[in-house]
Amino acid sequence: MERALNELFRVKELGPDPGFSRFVPGVYDPVGFDWKSAFEPGFKRLFNGLMIRGADRVSRVFLAVFPTEEVLEAFLEEGKTGDLLFMHHPLTMECGDPYGDWGKGFVPVDGEWWARIREKGLSVYTCHAPMDIHPTIGTNAAIVEALEARETGSFFQDRMGAYGRIAEIEQMDTDTLIARLKRIFAIPYVDFEGKKRRDITRIAIVAGCGDVVAAMKEAEEKGAQAYVTGEIHCRVDNDYGRRRFREMMDYVPTTSMSLIGVSHAASEFLVMNTQMRRWFERECGVATVLLEQSHWWR
Ligand SMILES: [Zn+2]
Repeated sequence: MERALNELFRVKELGPDPGFSRFVPGVYDPVGFDWKSAFEPGFKRLFNGLMIRGADRVSRVFLAVFPTEEVLEAFLEEGKTGDLLFMHHPLTMECGDPYGDWGKGFVPVDGEWWARIREKGLSVYTCHAPMDIHPTIGTNAAIVEALEARETGSFFQDRMGAYGRIAEIEQMDTDTLIARLKRIFAIPYVDFEGKKRRDITRIAIVAGCGDVVAAMKEAEEKGAQAYVTGEIHCRVDNDYGRRRFREMMDYVPTTSMSLIGVSHAASEFLVMNTQMRRWFERECGVATVLLEQSHWWR
């Protein structure tokens, strides 16, 4: 199963993850957690792939987006020796709630959790950027599929690939699109900025942190009338977060797009609930268990 996942997401070929190769040391080193001893050699090099190797036989795969305590608790409780936890992030991220508190950003997972998982013979595999850029099975591909959209282009590119998709949808207004997104992502509300429109046929999609002004400008130049992402705002409660929030508010009056955030966590969980669940069941013949978060906005 490890080999099949590495091949599907081209984990080795694509090289170190651009985000987590910085964030994993950046979050664990200051708290003195010896992550280099806790995680598998391949993970320490690539920051994607098998993090913790448990017993060989996998009977069930648990699917989650972030290693929150709620998720790890459920995995430890329900998982049997050899079971696998598959996630998008190796670190929890708290991005803040548009109608609640601001978030803490990346949060370290107490080393005790990883030790307990190892003791129980459980495995953990995470896949970040390779899953965002994958053409057909991934965080962005799952959103295109759920909206029954037709992909026509891309934007927001780095050396690994494109994090944004441009796609055509049947014509609808902003409120109809928001209602559909609330249903797809099972969220109580969206975050919204920009203009409400009647004529949306082309949308831009970025799972996770799409709160990048340059990416929004590029999407609008490519004809997008709505921009659908996890976060349209950085609400991390520090100077960096406040500066990013202000940058976005300076940009907002200049755009004619509808900017819609569905929460970082829910935007990246969708693929687990749809494409990954199907993939594990069909390709590996294993049962899957979804570990949803009780709050997507946090
Ligand atoms: Zn993310």
